[in-house]
Amino acid sequence: MNKQNTSQFLLFCGLFSLLLSISTWGLSIFFKFDFPVYAVFVIFFFCFALSFLFFNFFYQKIIFGRIENTLVKLRKLHTVTETGTNKDYTEDMADPLERFNAEIIQLSNERQRELEHLKKLENYRKEFLGNVSHELKTPIFNIQGYVATLIDGGINDPKINMEYLKRADKSVDRMINIIDDLETISQLETGTLSLDLEKFNVVEMVNDICKQIEIQAQKKNISLNVNTPQKIVKVYADRFRIRQVFANLLSNSIKYGKENGETSIVITPEKDKVSVSISDNGIGLEEKHLPRIFERFYRVDKGRSREQGGTGLGLSIVKHIIEAHHQTISVSSKENEGTTFIFSLPKT
Ligand code: ATP
Ligand code: MG
Repeated sequence: MNKQNTSQFLLFCGLFSLLLSISTWGLSIFFKFDFPVYAVFVIFFFCFALSFLFFNFFYQKIIFGRIENTLVKLRKLHTVTETGTNKDYTEDMADPLERFNAEIIQLSNERQRELEHLKKLENYRKEFLGNVSHELKTPIFNIQGYVATLIDGGINDPKINMEYLKRADKSVDRMINIIDDLETISQLETGTLSLDLEKFNVVEMVNDICKQIEIQAQKKNISLNVNTPQKIVKVYADRFRIRQVFANLLSNSIKYGKENGETSIVITPEKDKVSVSISDNGIGLEEKHLPRIFERFYRVDKGRSREQGGTGLGLSIVKHIIEAHHQTISVSSKENEGTTFIFSLPKT
């Protein structure tokens, strides 16, 4: 019981005893009973002590007991904390009413947060569905257009028939890529994609990818430089998935790089991980885009990205793959100056 409650409680007992002793005195006068004045005081103190004991018992055992029961039930409603236990945030408070109050406020705050989180997820889901249908619509409409032209006689026109079939084939490839990417994200998010972990030399992998994308880089006269203190840097990871990570980050550095630019890959072995940084001196990103860059379908310049065949799923897959290896990835960028992605890979 806190100070305010105690004084209210004493005041209540005092008033109750006063009422009782005045009534007794009044009744004695009414019934003409010879009642000494000091007896009124005795009755007052007697009633005071009795009512104090009685109400204290009632207050502590019955009311507080019920509040305690409700508190236990309320606590069970709290979200389970990260440690997996229901933490009692109010255990330091002695007054059950205060604890009850704090518990209700805490519960309503938690529910409010959950509600906001669910609203965010709902918006995210709507946005995601819109994006999927939009991205699939473009190649489908393209295929529809080419097929319709071929049916309308274009099939017999040697100038366009092969060309339109090739373009339709390209659109089919694009659809397959989107679906493959979505499948990978979904498997990574649900944890159904099991990693095939093995030891391999990451420097060799990077050199190999660089050779593969050399033609793409040469078109923009971008040089690819690999810096590492050792020629063999072993990591323990899923070879195929890590290849996907490098392929997307390196192809991004060229897609969003400037003519005559440079992409540098720095591989630094550390105590129990390998740190990798991939930086370019390309178009860069405004700071406001950085927190959203790893979201599915997020593209800064949709037109430019789509022109390059991008769907905005690459970085989302990259982040999921790195996190599936229990590692982290971060990005820093300055508009018109360049972008750097830093991530780690496990050694064991
Ligand atoms: P894809 O799914 O084919 O990879 P994408 O390259 O457009 O398509 P992400 O790799 O996820 O998608 O990249 C998302 C967006 O981030 C890009 O559209 C681009 O706007 C921006 N971005 C990514 N990397 C860079 C970079 N190195 N420099 C500048 N902008 C970048
Ligand atoms: Mg990409």
